[in-house]
This record gives sequence, C-alpha cells and structure tokens, in this order.
Amino acid sequence: MSKPVTDLIHHPYQPPAGFSAPQPGVFKASTVLFADTAALRARDWRHKNGYTYGLHGTPTTFLLEERIAALEGGRHCVLVPSGLASIANVGMALLKSGDEVLLPDNVYGPSRALAEGEFRGWGIVHQLYDPMKPADLEKRIGPHTRLVWLEAPGSVTMEFPDLSELVRICRRKGVPCALDNTWGAGLAFSAFDLAPGSGEKLAVDISVHALTKYPSGGGDVLMGSIVTRDEQLHHRLKLTHMRVGWGVGANDVESVLRSLPSLPLRYRAHDEAARRLARWCAGREEIVQVLHPALEGAPGHAHWRALCGPEGLAAGLFSVVFHERFATAQVDAFCDALKLFRLGYSWGGPVSLVVPYDIPPMRSAQLGTWAHKGILVRFSVGLEAPEDLQADLEQALQALRRPG
Ligand SMILES: *Cc1c(COP(=O)(O)O)cnc(C)c1O
Repeated sequence: MSKPVTDLIHHPYQPPAGFSAPQPGVFKASTVLFADTAALRARDWRHKNGYTYGLHGTPTTFLLEERIAALEGGRHCVLVPSGLASIANVGMALLKSGDEVLLPDNVYGPSRALAEGEFRGWGIVHQLYDPMKPADLEKRIGPHTRLVWLEAPGSVTMEFPDLSELVRICRRKGVPCALDNTWGAGLAFSAFDLAPGSGEKLAVDISVHALTKYPSGGGDVLMGSIVTRDEQLHHRLKLTHMRVGWGVGANDVESVLRSLPSLPLRYRAHDEAARRLARWCAGREEIVQVLHPALEGAPGHAHWRALCGPEGLAAGLFSVVFHERFATAQVDAFCDALKLFRLGYSWGGPVSLVVPYDIPPMRSAQLGTWAHKGILVRFSVGLEAPEDLQADLEQALQALRRPG
C-alpha cells in the first residue's frame, strides 16, 4: 500500500475516454511522459506526430498552430511569447554575422530597435528602404542581404505599399522576405497569395503575426506566430525557437483559441467603426491628413484597393496629422481630454486607445519619407458604440483650442 502522499501524485484513476466538447482541452505540461525508453529515444521535435517536452508542443499549442497556419493560408506555424519575439526568432534563425537585413522606413518601431541594438552587436547590419518606392528596395538589395522585412501598412503612419511588387523584387533577387502581418490578421489579404485571380503564384516566405492584437482580442495576452509554407524553412525557425526556449503558456493559448472564432466578426466591427471615425476626422479643419489606407487620398490607397479589393477589409486603426499651428502641448491636451479613448500602446482589444507620436525622429532623414510638420495621433478603435467614440473625439477637440 502506498502512503496517501504518494497516491496524491500517482493516483490510479483515469477519467473515461471519449470526452468531447466544442472547446479544446487545455494541456499544461513542462514534462511530457514517454511510455518506454524506446519512445523516449525516438522522440522527434520536427513533426507533430508526438510530444517530447512542453516547450516543444502540447495538444493545446499544436491546435492553435494549425488554426493560425490555416487562417493565414500557410502550412506550418511556430508560437512564441509575443509578436516581437516572432520578429526576433526570424532574425535569429536566418541571419548571422556579416549578413544584412532590410527594413521599411515605417517598420514597427521595436523591430528597428532590435536591428539597431542586438543584431548590430552580433555583426548583422541593416538598411532602411522606402517602402513606397519599390525601386529603392531593389537598389538596396546587395550581396549580403539575407532577409527583407515587409509591413502593410506601415506602423503608425499607415502608408500601404505595393506589397506584391516588393515581394516580386525579393523573388527576382533570391532574397527571403518576411511580412509583419499583424494589421491584415490573415483576413484583409492573404500573405501567401498576393496576386489572387491572376494565375501568378506570389507569396511571402514568412508571415509573422502579433496574436496579442486581434486574435487574442482581449488585450490580456501576449503571443506571436510565425507561419510558413516551406517545411525546411519551418524547421529552421523551429530549431531556433527550441534553442532559445521561447515557451507559451497553455492558459494563454486557450484564451486565443477561445477568441479565434469571433475574430472575423470583431475585425469587421473594428473596421467599420474606424472608417466612420476616420471619415469624420477628414472633415475637421484641425486635421490636415487622415492616414487610413481604405480612405481615398490616403498614402497607398490604390495599393490597398488592388490587394484587398474595392470592398475589402481594413483593421480598426488610423492616424491623423494635426495642423502645424497646434503645438505638442495642445495635442497632448486633446489626448488627455479623451474619455473613452484611453492612452496606451497596442491594439486589437475592446477598449479604444490613443497615442501621440512625433514622427521625424522615428524616420531616416536621408530617405525623407515623412513630409508633415504637424503632430500625429494614432487611434486604435475598440468595440464601443461608434457614435459614443465620435462624441468623445468631438468634445476632446475643444481642448485643442484652449491656449496651452
Ligand atoms: C504589436 C505589434 C507587434 C508586437 O507584438 P507584441 O506582442 O506586443 O510584442 C509587432 N508588429 C506589429 C505591427 C504590432 O502592431
């Protein structure tokens, strides 16, 4: 007879097999048990036909990986603890000392900081290119270029590039390209079918996605994914993932699995509300430019239309540039006066968010891709009633007029 303390650990009860429910089970494990030493020695981290260690996958993580790969039109997926970790994992897998990576000038800021910080320290150089001028990318790809990052639209300033043309250039030059697909979320366009209906097979090599945003939808999970179609490339990324030890928690995975079925509905709701508010902002004299790719006159609108379709989708994000007569303190007063839009980074959750940005220091002076003089404010539109959000913007604009 075992002592009770041992029984609490090695209890013989097994729940009956055959349980079935619409929501998946949550398997939490660091250690994964093997039936015998032969099974332990035969462990295989490359394929999803078994389990070796919690870090390398559980039924819960495999399930989310398969669903995210399907969402994005890819075949393989690796999960990491944040969107930024997915960007880091790609760089660490594909770049070594002496290599060069190219980034768009309007790249997600922390991606650039990673290139300027860690990667530079490891002997990996980077160059910025003008994403709105495909010829500029073509000119910069050199003998040491091993990776090109793409983003559509650009972070904060929302210019939508000719993504298909940028990918064609990478194809012609034989350089792998990785897309930060967080904005499109696998819904606005397909990263692995960038010339739909044309007969041309055009795909990025890698799509990374901050699941933190729309797939989580709750503003309460940090997670990233790396999706590919090529198995060898996937294994390269997965090997780095294992060596570095990026684990994701089963409870977080479960939160994303729970939110995923409502992703298309939420995305549409964010989109509709953001467009309504963006159009309203376009009619305000305090604002000189509204940056939303689905709005006519916005930078890259024609490229958005060509890729996403005239009735296409867009995320719930837009930025506005205030007239240069408004000083930073006045724009700050506008942001502080907002009641429903809260001050905070990130997006994709139910709460509307706002952040003011001073763009020139974020851009390369040589490329000259930013011409505005006024302060930019980025809005992430949540799931509140759009008319309440519009009233909030309207009342806060009064704060601009008060002398600072
Ligand atoms: C938020 C974001 C990321 C990073 O995601 P985290 O989970 O916050 O690290 C990467 N790219 C884009 C475009 C993002 O908006």
